[in-house]
Amino acid sequence: MKENGALNVKFYNGQNIPLELHKVRIVQKLHLKPVEERLEAIEKGGYNTFLLNTNDIFLDMLTDSGTNAMSDNQLSSMLHADDAYAGSQSFYRMEKALREVFDKHYILPVHQGRAAENIISQVFIKEGDIIPMNYHFTTTKAHMELNGGKVFEIYADEALRIKSNHQFKGNIDIGKLESLINEYGAGRIPFIRFEASTNLIGGQPFSMENMKQVKAIADAHGIMIVLDASLIGENAWFIKQREEEYKQSSIKDILNEMCMLSDIVYFSSRKVSSTRGGGICTGSEELYLKMRDLVPLFEGFLTYGGMSVREIEAMAVGFYETTDETIISQSPSFVAYAVNEMDRLGIPVITPPGALGCHIDAMGFLPHVPQEEYPAGALAAALFIVSGVRGMERGTISSERDEDGNDILADMELLRLAFPRRVFTLSQTMFMIDRAKWLFDNRDLVGGLRFREEPPVLRFFMGQLEPVSDWPLKLAAKFREDFGESL
Ligand SMILES: *Cc1c(COP(=O)(O)O)cnc(C)c1O
Repeated sequence: MKENGALNVKFYNGQNIPLELHKVRIVQKLHLKPVEERLEAIEKGGYNTFLLNTNDIFLDMLTDSGTNAMSDNQLSSMLHADDAYAGSQSFYRMEKALREVFDKHYILPVHQGRAAENIISQVFIKEGDIIPMNYHFTTTKAHMELNGGKVFEIYADEALRIKSNHQFKGNIDIGKLESLINEYGAGRIPFIRFEASTNLIGGQPFSMENMKQVKAIADAHGIMIVLDASLIGENAWFIKQREEEYKQSSIKDILNEMCMLSDIVYFSSRKVSSTRGGGICTGSEELYLKMRDLVPLFEGFLTYGGMSVREIEAMAVGFYETTDETIISQSPSFVAYAVNEMDRLGIPVITPPGALGCHIDAMGFLPHVPQEEYPAGALAAALFIVSGVRGMERGTISSERDEDGNDILADMELLRLAFPRRVFTLSQTMFMIDRAKWLFDNRDLVGGLRFREEPPVLRFFMGQLEPVSDWPLKLAAKFREDFGESL
């Protein structure tokens, strides 16, 4: 019950229902269009959900980046922002919030998460270095490689298993870490990176116990720990829910402890505080001074870092709210509801439920679509056609080709349906699940995709595809047959 209802609210009817512990006071109209118009929209967008227009979308579950709902307190804080190029009071308020919530004294503001990755990579990574981590994030890996580093993902084997009961699939495997250090030597390892609620493998958390073990090894070899805190609130929530020792701890104490075990903490505020922007925090003056001068060079002066002062005010409030259980539990409890329901209905989905969203296993959903025909991309397009729900392909389309121009087939073919924080209601969530179930029952109608226009880099953003047959037409026709006049 606990994980599936914010703050353990029990329903008399025995059902496991997440409860919205907020009221909605500003709303935005949504459009639910007929299936024929959705078919036209996805055709025009080259079967790539990135190329859809939000007017054609009903529920936008592409990402939680910059799409979370702000609180009344965040919005009102923006009104007393202090416009100044240097020395803005807004910055000092954010600095105070971060010092309290992350327990780090030195704060560098940057315009978004990847900007923090740029600075950290430029300062600490040199040619030939290796960086062990639980799992990479796209922009993280790109910046590390740009600076001559090589990423080693040392998750436990369990992490890539679709159906699992493992509570901390985001853990670093201690044995693999030790062999890496033995093989390469600590001198070539500038830091070990922990990513809270690993974005690309299903929003899966790591445990505090794991972090402590890694810290002990890192200390023994004089290696730093860098924490990507973009999804730290949810990871802290899972530690409280799933780790016996922390059942009675406050979220703030858990956040403090995670940060205490890290030498550098950085984040994307597009996720963690429901605003824009980002930052780097450290308790060490020496590390701070190494990074400081790159901020005015790439971002902006030290008291705004490329952000507007309004955003900085809202960030400060957002960080205090990250310590509030009712607030940070909202997204994971909706994810848990959706994952458990889909699992119950037989839809192949990553378990246990994590942060950020539900991840449907497209190879399990569409076993008849060969991986060369991009099952996750096909599933994203098909779900949009039958529901107006926009998800994100996280599979082979999101990777690149090798030197000979062949596709590099991804480890997993996932359709990610993100839950931006506090944006969707339960009935909208139920609608998404209902349409996913209809699609699952009619999955034989879904076929593959091929590229019609393929950019050489980051093809998943702008690439255009087409269906390998007229399957989308048949799918839309069957939808019309089953649903009649209904949207
Ligand atoms: C989004 C994200 C980033 C990059 O942040 P941006 O603000 O989009 O640049 C880095 N790490 C993780 C884990 C993320 O989720």
